[in-house]
Amino acid sequence: MGGEKKVHTMCGLGKDLKGKALAEFVEVVRKPRFYCERCHRVARRKKNLCQPVRLPKP
Ligand SMILES: [Zn+2]
Repeated sequence: MGGEKKVHTMCGLGKDLKGKALAEFVEVVRKPRFYCERCHRVARRKKNLCQPVRLPKP
């Protein structure tokens, strides 16, 4: 695991998502607009990623 940060990013999330955290996760990744170059994750908001790159429109 990496260092702990207060910033809530998709990149730092573990596998044990439950309840509200899971619902939020689903909401953020459902229609991704950004991709993390470092962690290869997607999210709707830039702030949820550590190295966000805008995804091309479909
Ligand atoms: Zn990342």
